[in-house]
Order: sequence, then structure tokens, then C-alpha cells
Amino acid sequence: MEAVETVKKEATEEFHQLTRAELFQQLEQRIRDIKAEPPIQHDPENVLEVHNLLKYFPIKTGLFSKVTAYVRAVDGVSFNIKRGTTMGLVGESGCGKTTVGKTILRLTEKTAGQVYFNGIEIHDIPKSEMRKLRPKIQMIFQDPYSSLSPRLPIAEIIGEAVREHNVVPHEEMDAYLDQVMKQCGLQPYHKDRYPHEFSGGQRQRICIARSIALKPDFIICDEPVSALDVSIQAQIINLMMDLQKQLGLTYLFISHDLSVVEHISDTIGVMYLGNMVEYASKEQIFSKPLHPYTEALFSAIPIPDPDVKMERIILEGSIPSPANPPSGCKFHTRCKKCMGICRQVAPETKEVEPGHFVACHLFD
Ligand code: SF4
Repeated sequence: MEAVETVKKEATEEFHQLTRAELFQQLEQRIRDIKAEPPIQHDPENVLEVHNLLKYFPIKTGLFSKVTAYVRAVDGVSFNIKRGTTMGLVGESGCGKTTVGKTILRLTEKTAGQVYFNGIEIHDIPKSEMRKLRPKIQMIFQDPYSSLSPRLPIAEIIGEAVREHNVVPHEEMDAYLDQVMKQCGLQPYHKDRYPHEFSGGQRQRICIARSIALKPDFIICDEPVSALDVSIQAQIINLMMDLQKQLGLTYLFISHDLSVVEHISDTIGVMYLGNMVEYASKEQIFSKPLHPYTEALFSAIPIPDPDVKMERIILEGSIPSPANPPSGCKFHTRCKKCMGICRQVAPETKEVEPGHFVACHLFD
């Protein structure tokens, strides 16, 4: 805090731009610092606890493929999800939402940080233990067609992992698949059909059935309705909410559609270029968005009333590349409230009211 104050005083329009080598050293130090942090205190109410998650993709150059730089896809993201609730994760394309989901699932290894699922640090357990945990954490993908094998009938698509993980005894398998399919609005006679025989909405129901058949605790939903038309979107969202109530599921709902996120979420995190810039309950964030990026994002939500004039905040300025973000606050190239310090020092995340976290120098 003292360091921030000092830099604040010294802040001028001219500042030292880090060279590529200096930035690389700074990032290496950041990785070491975060790796050295003590384990966080687990709260049994939380299904998922993510603390200072980093996912840097190395850029290798030269004859010996030496790592000389990083693409900072996820750059210190922290949040918790309480059992039986939904957290919406929003932000523009390329901000790192999907990488957060994949890193939580351990489809890609983290660079540093902590990811606790029901109190277990999932990146620290051996692969054999992770395999046992897999049924409990599932994912629903954006494109229901490409996430289903075109060569397998529906019974095989839904039942394959159920058999592999011995979720139900062999003799009960048929009855179990019928029950899961009915729960998801599919009929048992669909079992012998192939994915191409279904509409987009039905295919997404098959993906949902495949996930819940494994009796998960937690599902990562990566833009599950963005490939569907609006009427079908509502059906799928309602199905997911019904299943959440019936089965006590916890969701991480990744989307860029704010209306959908408002409908389904309990808490919302807003990401920008790999950082979580704001995190709060749905009510707090929709009634009083604090971060300038969140304000601009939320001002673009259409209002279904012809008499109300929308006051959109248009973001100007260059959009930085995730491979080469600016120093200081990554949003400063587009922020109308940018101050001298914003170009030099990355803002820390502060709790400005109970449960409402913002990373912006306006709240220092
Ligand atoms: Fe804007 Fe500065 Fe806040 Fe970044 S830290 S959002 S540049 S005011």
C-alpha cells in the first residue's frame, strides 16, 4: 500500500516503459511469489475456491526454444462459489474466461495459484486421484454438435463415462439412462439415434444429460446457449435451473450474454484481459457497477422499452493484445477516467462494500 502511495505521488505522464527482458523477469518473480503463498483457509460452504490463479503460456524463441516471454491468459484471478449457487463469468472474447474453466478442470495445467474443489487442491493430486474426481466436475461446451461424437448413438454417448466410472451397477444401466434422459427432456426411444438426427436444442440436452449422468457436484458451462436461437436458449436455461434445484448442482456459467447471466447467476465476475476487474453479487453488480469497464459493458444491455433511451458508454482507444498488454492497469488505453498512476501501477483488488470487489485506482 505504501509503495502504491509513493508511486501515486511520483506519477507523471512520462514513466519508465519496461523492456521486454525486464517485464519477463518481473513475471518470473510474480510466478515465484504466488507459488510461495501459503494455502488458503477452506470454507466448507464453498464448492470451488480459486486464489490468485495464473495461466501463462510461454513464448519460446531461438535454437534451444528458450522461454523469453509469456502470454498472460489468466493473470491472478480469485473467486469462490458457494454450494448450490451459480457464478456468472463475463467479459469480451479473448479475456480468459474459457482458460479459467479449463484450468479449473485441469484440462490445462496452472502456472501458479490455488484451485480447491471441496477442499482438495486439484492441481496437487496425482493423475489417478484426479481421474476419480473427474465425474464430480463436468463441463458443458459451447457447440453441442462438435462436442458429441457423430459415430456413437445417444445411449453410448451418455452411458460411456457412466460405465467407465461405475456410477451405477451394470444391470441398472438401462433404467438409469432412461431416467437421466427424461430428466433432460429427451425420450428413451431417442437412445439408438445419432447426434445428426437432433436439433441444436436437443443436442445441448444430450450434452447436459451426459454431464448429469455422472452425478457431478459442479458443472462448468462454457457459453452453453450462445449457439442456440433465443426461444431455445430460454428452454435450456430453465432446464439447467430446474436441474440445479433437483440435484443441488453448482455452476460456473461462462458467457458474454449479460441478460442470460443476469437470469441464472447469484454472483458475477467480470474479466478483462486475464484479470478479474469486478466481482460481486448479481444485485450489487447490476444496481451499482463500479469498475469503468463493467459500467461500459452493462450500458450495452438492450432495454426492452421503446420509451427508454439507452445511454451507452462507447469505449474508444486501442484494444491491447493479450500477448502484449500495457503496463499498469490493462484497461487504461480505453478508460475515460484514467489517471497518471493507472499507466504505472496495476490496481489491487479491494473489497469496497461487503462482498463487492473491484480492481481500480478510483477506489484506492
Ligand atoms: Fe480506469 Fe485507472 Fe480504474 Fe484502470 S485503474 S479502470 S485506468 S480509473
